[in-house]
Parts: sequence; C-alpha cells; structure tokens
Amino acid sequence: MTTNPSTASALAPEWLQVPAELNALHEPLWAAGVARNDAGELAIDGIPVSELQRQFGTPLFVMSENDFRARARAFSDAFNDAFADICGGVDVYYAGKSFLCTTVVRWVEEEGLRLDTASGGELAVAARAGIPGADVALHGNNKSDGEIHRALDMQLGRIVVDSLDELERVAAIAANRGDTARVMLRLTPGVHAHTHEFIATAHEDQKFGLSMAGDSTDQAGLSAAEEAVAAASGHESIELLGLHCHIGSQIFEPDGFALAAERLLDFLAAMQAKYEIVLPELDLGGGYGIAYTPVDTPRPAAEIAQAMAAVVRSKCAALGISAPRISIEPGRAIVGSTTFTLYEVGTLKTVRVDAPAAGGGEPGEPGKNVTYPRRYVSVDGGMSDNPRPVLYDADYSAILASRTSDAAPQLSRVVGKHCESGDIVVRDVYLPEDVAAGDLLAVPGTGAYCWALSSNYNYLARPGVVAVRDGAVRLIVRGETEEDLLNRDMGV
Ligand SMILES: *Cc1c(COP(=O)(O)O)cnc(C)c1O
Repeated sequence: MTTNPSTASALAPEWLQVPAELNALHEPLWAAGVARNDAGELAIDGIPVSELQRQFGTPLFVMSENDFRARARAFSDAFNDAFADICGGVDVYYAGKSFLCTTVVRWVEEEGLRLDTASGGELAVAARAGIPGADVALHGNNKSDGEIHRALDMQLGRIVVDSLDELERVAAIAANRGDTARVMLRLTPGVHAHTHEFIATAHEDQKFGLSMAGDSTDQAGLSAAEEAVAAASGHESIELLGLHCHIGSQIFEPDGFALAAERLLDFLAAMQAKYEIVLPELDLGGGYGIAYTPVDTPRPAAEIAQAMAAVVRSKCAALGISAPRISIEPGRAIVGSTTFTLYEVGTLKTVRVDAPAAGGGEPGEPGKNVTYPRRYVSVDGGMSDNPRPVLYDADYSAILASRTSDAAPQLSRVVGKHCESGDIVVRDVYLPEDVAAGDLLAVPGTGAYCWALSSNYNYLARPGVVAVRDGAVRLIVRGETEEDLLNRDMGV
C-alpha cells in the first residue's frame, strides 16, 4: 500500500480531504467485522464481497448482526447507567422506521429494547415477529381508525397521540370497545436540531405534535398541549402515561435534547401544580447522529446520556418533582453504521468543470478560469436504494471494495442508473483513478433510511438485505424480482 501525496481537487468541497491511504477503512464509518482480507478485498466476518455478490447479486445491503446487537446494547447500557439513580433506568424504543423487518424486531427484543412503529404496516411486521404489544409504541400524525383499532387489538404499550383531534378519536374508539388506550402526548417544545446546531423558538410551524405555545388554540390562554392533558384526564378510556417530544435527526450535541427536556419538565410540573395530574413518563425521542463521512464526529452515547441525565436531575430538583421514567427512541444510531451497500461499477465518464484558478477569479471570467476533471462512476443502483442524497443533500463516502489499488486518488462522484441527473449516491469522494467496470464499491452507513425509503423508480427491483453473523451470511429480506414488479400490474 502506498500513501498518496496528491493535492486536493479544486472541485472538492472544503471538508473533503485527500485520504492519506486510499485503501484504508475509516473505522467509525464501518460495522465491526468489516476489514480487508489478505488479498486486499473487503470482507465482513471473513466473507469477501465478491462472494456476497456471487451469492446474492448487487446492489446489496450487507448488515452485521453482531454490530446491530452491540450498538443496541451499548445505547441501552449507556442510558440505563446514566439514568439509573434518577428514574431507575430508561426504556429504549428502537425507531423501526429507520429499518424494519421481522428478524431485526427479534434482535431488538432479545437485546432488551422495545419497538417504535409509525403505521399499520410497521405494526404488521411487529405482530409477525411476535414481539409483545406491551413493548410496542405507535406514532404518526394521521393514524387511521383502522390503525388505532389495530393498536388496541395488539394491546400496545403506548399510542403517541399527535393532536387534539386524534385524542378524541382514540378516546372514542377505545370507549366503544370498552377498552383503555395507554397514551403519550407528543408535544412540540420549539427546539429543532440538525447536526451541530439547534434553534429554539416559542412557536411551531410543522405538522407534528401539540403546541406548547400559550395562544395556540381558540381557548384563551391555553396551549394545545395543556388542553390535551386536561381533555385526556377527563376520558375514562384513556390512561395518560406522559409526554413525548422528538426534536430532529442526525444530532451530535446534547444541548438540544437538554433544552427540550427542560421545557417538557417545566410543563409536566405545571400540569402537576395546576391539575394535580402526575405524568409518570417522559420520552425524549430519537435523533442521535452517526458518522457518514470522515468529518462527522458524533459523541459517544455515554457522553450524551450523561449530559441529558444531568439536566433531568437538576431540573427535577429545581422544580421539586420526582423524575418521570425516561424513554428514548434511537433509530439511526443503532442501525445506521451496521450496514454497507455493495454496488458494481459500470459506466465511467470524466467531465471537465470550470472553477476559479488558485489565484482567484470568478467562473466565466476569461483567463482566470481553469477546468478540472470530475469523474462520474456509475453503479447498478442509485436513488431507488438510497434517496437520502436527493432528499436531504446527504453526504456519504465510498471505497473500492473488490481490491486495493496503488493508483492516484481522483475526485469522483458516484451516481446511480436512474433517469435523473440528481441521482447521486456519493457526491464527492476520492477513489483510485483506475476504478473500472466490474469493480465493486462499498458505501458505508446505509443501514438507516436507505432500504426503508427505497423505491421502484425506473422499475428497478429493490435490493435484498443480508445479515452476517459470526462468519455466516443469510438473506433476511430477499431482493425483488422482475416478477414481483410485474405482479401488481393488472393488465386490464
Ligand atoms: C424518526 C423518529 C425517531 C428516530 O430518529 P433517528 O434519527 O433515526 O434516531 C424517533 N422518534 C420519532 C418520533 C421519530 O419520528
């Protein structure tokens, strides 16, 4: 292996460094058990990617079961430790929307976590996996009556109610059945976080949750959140467990979580003082960030857990209330880094792009512009198996997986095969300049919100998902076939 002395391309974003060693894996991006073997090929638990391609084809989601279980345990341990002396520990709900199938539900259950769902379909997966309803929560801003019935049929541990409208529907449906619905109220604490920063406002302008702002309903002075607490406690068919919030995703710093916790605890104490309603539970949602590129440096779970615990402890002391039982809902932080997507390289193309020369100048200014090469590396999937770059401008990284290379690094853009120029898998990455058709590329960090958001755009079959454990690989979700795609076409 060689080191690459090359300088950065002028087309590269500022954050992207030329890797010192192009063949090396940047460890935080990869699941445990992923490494190059003696032949230089990427392998997981010793199984080389060429073998995975031979057995299962590409594109393919490759997940480490051991890594999933370890991350689930690590998260649960970190929060249970931090909150042990505050509320006896926490309940960790894995956010199933990030990646859900029956096998994963069983892992979640076996590791002592619970499950968050957000639709009847996700409840169907939970039911088929056989997880007890008491360990399942149902979210959603627009639950159908059918979904509410299903939640009650399954005797779910909690239904997270999102609006006054829904509260009345849940109450009526449960009352009609002679049932009791265990309910959390989702509030909007006016804290929005994304990665490094959060913004705090008094008002909310989004579809989720009950507003905590005082003038948010017709009823003078009462917030929607307060109205909901009062209404819920008036319904015999509702057991009001507590409050919930979820402030965003891919969050690195604990400050936003801490502020949201403080605002909800203030509210909880106010409800106790005004109505003598004691709310025993508080859910602080998910959103814990992971590394997608080498510049992402999320904090360890223990650090975030301790920071949040310190805030809950001191706030409860200041308010003179006993701490509610805390729960959290991590999705991405558990599954995101467990998985890489394996693609085969097809068409290669280099374009030349204008950019200001080193001495400055504007694009288009005669004499000052220089053209630089950007290489487009097309793979056999794309926005249908990972829409996050299109949806969120998400950055990823990629590595040549089927072999090592001593070739110089070349600024590359990994693109899919769809009829969309925005069909980008990895916007900017240095790959060896000898990458060729038939090579395999691996994109790490695709465990969350990739397969879950996948589509059949251009009639591409959605890829399968394999799980590797202790050197053995098995298909946990099979890939679609052309037959699957044609099956629903009624042809009439
Ligand atoms: C999406 C979501 C989560 C999980 O978010 P991550 O970023 O995957 O941790 C948790 N709770 C709710 C209510 C959500 O909508």
